[in-house]
Amino acid sequence: MAEAENFIQQIIEDDLKSGKVTSIQTRFPPEPNGYLHIGHAKSMFVNFGTAEKYGGKCNLFFDDTNPSKEKTEYVDAIKRDIRFLGYEWARECYASDFFDTIYEYAEKLILDGKAFVCDLSAEEIKNTRGTLTEPGKESPYRNRTAEENLKLFREMRDGKYADGEKCLRAKIDMSSPNVNMRDPVIYRILHATHHRTGDKWCIYPMYDYAHPICDYLQGVTHSLCTLEFEDHRPLYDWVGINLGFSPKPRQIEFARLNVTNLVMSKRYLKKLVEDGSVHGWDDPRMPTLAGLRNRGIPAEAIKDFCSRIGVAKANSECEISYFEAVVRDYLNVHAPRAMSVLDPIKLTLVNYEGSEEVDFEINQTDSNAGTRKVRFSGELYIERSDFSLDPPPKYYRGKIGGYVRLKNAYIVRCDEAVTDGKGNVVEVKATYLPDSRSGSDTSGVKAKGVIQWVDAKTCKDAEIRRYEHLLRDADYAGQDFSERMNENSEHIFFGKAEPYLAEAEEGAPFQLMRTGYYKKCTENGKLVLSEIVSLKDNFNK
Ligand code: ATP
Ligand code: MG
Repeated sequence: MAEAENFIQQIIEDDLKSGKVTSIQTRFPPEPNGYLHIGHAKSMFVNFGTAEKYGGKCNLFFDDTNPSKEKTEYVDAIKRDIRFLGYEWARECYASDFFDTIYEYAEKLILDGKAFVCDLSAEEIKNTRGTLTEPGKESPYRNRTAEENLKLFREMRDGKYADGEKCLRAKIDMSSPNVNMRDPVIYRILHATHHRTGDKWCIYPMYDYAHPICDYLQGVTHSLCTLEFEDHRPLYDWVGINLGFSPKPRQIEFARLNVTNLVMSKRYLKKLVEDGSVHGWDDPRMPTLAGLRNRGIPAEAIKDFCSRIGVAKANSECEISYFEAVVRDYLNVHAPRAMSVLDPIKLTLVNYEGSEEVDFEINQTDSNAGTRKVRFSGELYIERSDFSLDPPPKYYRGKIGGYVRLKNAYIVRCDEAVTDGKGNVVEVKATYLPDSRSGSDTSGVKAKGVIQWVDAKTCKDAEIRRYEHLLRDADYAGQDFSERMNENSEHIFFGKAEPYLAEAEEGAPFQLMRTGYYKKCTENGKLVLSEIVSLKDNFNK
């Protein structure tokens, strides 16, 4: 048998060994009320990954018991995102597929004296539920006969009552130390059109009641969910026991993924989309899987991250820089190198004539990647920040009288800077050292700095997009999400890039040397390079 890598796998192995189960069935249970985010990637890693490890199956189960918030658009987006991560579900099902059976089970509970129709309002139910230290108060409707309950429940189903006028509650224990066991509501009246069942139903089961039934009907052996459901497990088990489920699915809880500078709540993400704070659910700054994909983050890196953070029983928060480091590790090996400048200034080599091709290593971490040719000439662009008229100490890039190496080409000495009326440098004139070519440098001159460049004649205009996190650090901006919003998280530059990038495959990742990892795309015929991840952790700098 495979070796257990976490406590969930340990439980599963024990269950297999003891013969309690013979095969493994899990499910990934999103509610189609928004797009999936990176937290869901962890849930998928656990649900799909565990089933896969033990030769079992994982279903895609849509928890659609809340008709007013659910949409087919979200169902489609969720499926796209699961496929993006490369997971394959065994069966696609919906809580709504089981509404008939869920209803019949409710009648069974009524007939067994284990559920009753209650006329208290939601407010009254809340007020009589008690507290952690005080027991709740029994509903005056608790002792209705089974016949009366059945009649009322059927009337609820048939639309005789308005929303909230009545509900069905499980009859458990109003003095249970677990508030979830104090006669929880299991059906509510809601005259709403459901995205799949239309107007067939005007009563809908509550999640805590429907979920164990749906798990059972799918043959789920291990129902893996996040820690906030731990206190609901007694109710999960109560439903299974009182409906006579055999074998009864087993719920196991694990810690949610929390990441600094990321909000992981569909409700909050939806608000960002609706109030226009971002360009959409797939905005590259969003922690949604659609956003991460659009950002250019490879599925492999997301899965690698989930694998590295592991599955634990206690909540914790992961640093965003750790996620970024995992992405960088992946791209370092997989992304070809190229040159670009965000904010170009002209570099003219006064003693250079014509042009030539220099060798450029495609990816120095990959010995099979080889080299390609890059055109070099006497008219180049370099990054504005790579030249200084007033250099600080230890500044080894372009300065008057100083030597700097142009990456994979020659050492140059900057002689003169041409400025505009406002004192901004518009051009640097330099002298190149003909015997300093990379690979055959006999000049004897040491240039400490190496800078990237592009050939002025053949380079392409590029819109270069850089991003900061949507949320500022909690340390100085506080815990409250609304106060942490970074209003200035997208930066656009009109730069220059090698023609190689314009010809590259759409969506391909590159390391733009000394700049970061970027995704290449074309928008309205224009070359766009958008940041996947910076080269180093430069947040807040
Ligand atoms: P949200 O608050 O973002 O809407 P949710 O838990 O309501 O999250 P669901 O669609 O109900 O979202 O989640 C589907 C599954 O994914 C659930 O089993 C849930 O526990 C799990 N999940 C959601 N967020 C995370 C997270 N941050 N880390 C791990 N698992 C998560
Ligand atoms: Mg939910």
